[in-house]
Amino acid sequence: MDKKQLIITTSWDDGHALDLRLAELLDKYSIKGTFYVPINNAEHPVMLPSELEVIAGRFEIGGHTVNHIYLNTLSEEDARYEVAECKTMLQDRLGRAVDAFCYPGGKYSQRDIRLVSDAGFLFGRTTRLLHISSAIETKLMDTTMQAFHHSSVTLTKHCLKAGFVLPIVQQLFFYKGNKNFPLLAEVLMNKIQSNGGVFHLWGHSWEIEEFGLWHDLELLLKAIAFNRDIAYMNNTDCWNALSASAAFKT
Ligand SMILES: [Zn+2]
Repeated sequence: MDKKQLIITTSWDDGHALDLRLAELLDKYSIKGTFYVPINNAEHPVMLPSELEVIAGRFEIGGHTVNHIYLNTLSEEDARYEVAECKTMLQDRLGRAVDAFCYPGGKYSQRDIRLVSDAGFLFGRTTRLLHISSAIETKLMDTTMQAFHHSSVTLTKHCLKAGFVLPIVQQLFFYKGNKNFPLLAEVLMNKIQSNGGVFHLWGHSWEIEEFGLWHDLELLLKAIAFNRDIAYMNNTDCWNALSASAAFKT
């Protein structure tokens, strides 16, 4: 793949009614994305079908199980139902293919990766952070950062898991707990802009509201928007672009 290929994609989980506000904000900056919407969710109410239609008119909709249950807590039969049925139900509602899946709570096992593939999804989005490489792992799509102020301890753990080099870890400590996620975005975007790669921002609208992060999110979007060197894509388009490029690798 062209080393300088630069993609920005975003994803938003849980299907809360505040996703409408999020969709408007993304639209304002022409940022593309995927909304992962469960059919029911005991913790955070899911938007009305009419609201889903509004978002689906502008953005990709992905599966997030029927009941927003962590797959690793379920029997194979129940997990299969949660994965396959959410695809069928969303496709019936939207009248189009639903290709992207996201694991509730970022929880999955090899069995669940298989179930997601069996159901016909292209990939399952994880909650692993700090991934910026354009290399893809079979059936999994990792993220770069969350619209949330993670502690430096959490970020360092993700850094190490992602195999990140020490200078990045040091930079994160320099920001002392990163109370300002737009700064973290700047560090990561600089890295991607010199080497190429994918910047994948994800979050929850209910959480952005709960922690008062709308202003920070807008600052971040403003900083990454309208760049001619960047391809802005939803998760599936990003996946397809990376898969196509990977196929040309020798
Ligand atoms: Zn979720």
